[in-house]
Amino acid sequence: MSSEPRPRDPQCLFCRIVAGEIPADVVAEDEQALAFRDLEPQAPLHVLVVPRAHYPDIGTLAHGDPDALVGVARLAAKVAADENGGQFRFVFNSGRQAHQSVFHAHGHVLGGRDMTWPPG
Ligand code: AMP
Repeated sequence: MSSEPRPRDPQCLFCRIVAGEIPADVVAEDEQALAFRDLEPQAPLHVLVVPRAHYPDIGTLAHGDPDALVGVARLAAKVAADENGGQFRFVFNSGRQAHQSVFHAHGHVLGGRDMTWPPG
C-alpha cells in the first residue's frame, strides 16, 4: 500500500462520513472502502460504497487509485452477498447530467426487487 496520505476534502459529505464526523448506517467496511445505507433508498437494498480517499467520480478514482476502485467493487459484492444472495445492480453516476449529486466517487448497490432496463 502507498504511504502517501489519502486525499481528503474537509467540505465533502462522504469524506466526513468516512471520518465519522457525520453519522451513517454503516453495513460493511475495509481498508479501502466504506458501505452505508442510502438515506433515500430506491430499492429494498440500496447501499452506497465509497472509497475512503476523496476522488470526485469513478474516472478520477480509476486513474488516481485503481486499487481503491477494486476495493469498492469487492465491498459492493460482499454487501450484495450478505444481503441479497449476491445479486445487485451497481451504478456510478458521473457528472450532473448523469444525476451525480455528491462529488465523492460512490457506487450504488441496488437490489431486492426486479430491475428494469433501460434505466431512467
Ligand atoms: P448521486 O446522485 O449518485 O450523487 O447519489 C448520492 C446519493 O447520496 C443519493 O442517493 C442520496 O440519497 C445519498 N445521500 C445523500 N446524503 C446522504 C447521507 N448523509 N447518508 C446516506 N446517503 C446520503
